[in-house]
Amino acid sequence: MKRSVLLGVLLLVGSLSMAAAARTDLPGSLAPAAQPQGPRVIDIVKLKDNLYVLTSSTPGNPATFSGGNVAVFITDGGVTLVDTKLAGWGQAVLDKVKSVTTKPVTRIINTHTHGDHTGNDGFFGTTVEIVAQENTKTNMEKMDAFKGDNAKFLPKKTYKDKLTLGSGKERIDLYYFGAGHTSGDTFVVFPDLKVLHTGDMFAWKDAPFCDRSNGGSCVALPQTLSKAIANIKNVDTVIPGHSPMMAPKDLQEFQRFTADLLAETRAAMAAGKSVDEASAAFKVDKYPGYKTERVKAAVQAIYDEIKK
Ligand SMILES: [Zn+2]
Repeated sequence: MKRSVLLGVLLLVGSLSMAAAARTDLPGSLAPAAQPQGPRVIDIVKLKDNLYVLTSSTPGNPATFSGGNVAVFITDGGVTLVDTKLAGWGQAVLDKVKSVTTKPVTRIINTHTHGDHTGNDGFFGTTVEIVAQENTKTNMEKMDAFKGDNAKFLPKKTYKDKLTLGSGKERIDLYYFGAGHTSGDTFVVFPDLKVLHTGDMFAWKDAPFCDRSNGGSCVALPQTLSKAIANIKNVDTVIPGHSPMMAPKDLQEFQRFTADLLAETRAAMAAGKSVDEASAAFKVDKYPGYKTERVKAAVQAIYDEIKK
């Protein structure tokens, strides 16, 4: 393949994976189209001696468009992964894990259903314990990637509100606080390490993506985030869904952003404004570093949800 053609394919693949992440209809079913044709590059960040992050995409570099941030938690008995990135990246994920430990992957926690977080569950085989909130399992059952014979890769262990895995230094706490990005998002806490993985409940510094086709709700999101902030204490590092590492104050700021967005959208709707007018009027000045690329889609989602 000519270099220019290859570059075009890479850019297309990159935009497809971004589109898959942004679409409101079953992003998981779009994941296979987003498989990279070229090199697969995953960067790794060390947070603690036994906790690493296989990072999400680097803007402008399609070879890194691998899907969400993956936590790699190393225990005596094996490695727990939080999420598994886009389909087609399984070997690249495993190679990176092997670069920091000889232990096998024994457990996967899926923060939610989307294909950029569950894409390689099957790659790790049926001997791996897959864990998710019960609504996420229901959402995953609707995905093409988990139909037919692949249903054997669905989570076998589910929970409703809280689940603790392991004990002592190896303890992991899973919490569900309500709808937001989807209907089944898990907050994963490593208490001994003071680290929280939020999945896409806090993906980036921009408006949230609320996937209404999977039970997501931008109307419920501010309250769900408040509950998480009130209940999850003693954390100093936050692993977001798709951004570099954050601090608890960033999560608190994002909660305020989502509450402001909801309140202003409600007011605009009550004043008879259109979605275009409402999203243009929403100012992010008091949120340094925030983008507005996703504001219109979020405002639309709030309009649709309230109208219903
Ligand atoms: Zn997602």
